[in-house]
Amino acid sequence: MFIDIKDVSKEYFQNNSTFKALDHVSLQIEKGEFICLLGPSGCGKTTLLNSVAGFEKVNSGSIEIDGKQVLEPCISNVTIFQNYGLLPWRSVQKNVELGLESKKLSKKDRHDIASKYIDLVGLSKFSKSHPSQLSGGMQQRVAIARALAVDPEIIFMDEPFGALDALTRLKMQDEISNIWEQQKKTIIFVTHDIEEAVFLADRIVIMTPNPGKIKSIVSVPLARK
Ligand code: ADP
Ligand code: ADP
Repeated sequence: MFIDIKDVSKEYFQNNSTFKALDHVSLQIEKGEFICLLGPSGCGKTTLLNSVAGFEKVNSGSIEIDGKQVLEPCISNVTIFQNYGLLPWRSVQKNVELGLESKKLSKKDRHDIASKYIDLVGLSKFSKSHPSQLSGGMQQRVAIARALAVDPEIIFMDEPFGALDALTRLKMQDEISNIWEQQKKTIIFVTHDIEEAVFLADRIVIMTPNPGKIKSIVSVPLARK
């Protein structure tokens, strides 16, 4: 078992009372799985994602990755957000090199690895451009290239395509699906869009709010293939 979420509950303090964002949630995820967390706003998808990523502390239960308890964010995992998180003053090339700067690599190796992933997401012609010169879809592709370049164990994606127009969103879904086919990364992907979940996921974890719970888990064996 790669990711083991055991009986996790998480409460927030809101308006002088406690609010159960996650109520006894358990979920096991295998290496290489593409998991979508699906459900309406407020059902705890982001809270669950952030807890596995180590950004949130849970109140009870435990989360283990590869047998180790998650206590803080791990540098071998990456998160991709809706708002891309690119540095506006850096070129596409330098944005993708960003995650590699913490690794002991020569300047040339950093450059070559970044270029490979920029090529993978189809942006070679734009490596010298700055984020503001690119469309939203292209910016999100830069964020994906930057995430993949560090060769992460797990990619967390929180509504990454939510800010994109419908057509670009479909293209990005295709792209992330193709990348997943090639690289077999473990991906946990938050969405409230059922079509997106069915298209992308191996398994869809359907959540309900008040309190945030897993209602059911659905395997999607034929959606993509
Ligand atoms: P989404 O539904 O897209 O996940 P939300 O707007 O519900 O986004 O919340 C975005 C983030 O804002 C949450 O992940 C959380 O960190 C924070 N947040 C949400 N609700 C509250 C709240 N009532 N008080 C403080 N922070 C909140
Ligand atoms: P989702 O991603 O499914 O929209 P969230 O995990 O963002 O759900 O939030 C679940 C519930 O917890 C929501 O009702 C939200 O308002 C609340 N919440 C999230 N973050 C915080 C926070 N930091 N403080 C207080 N309440 C929060």
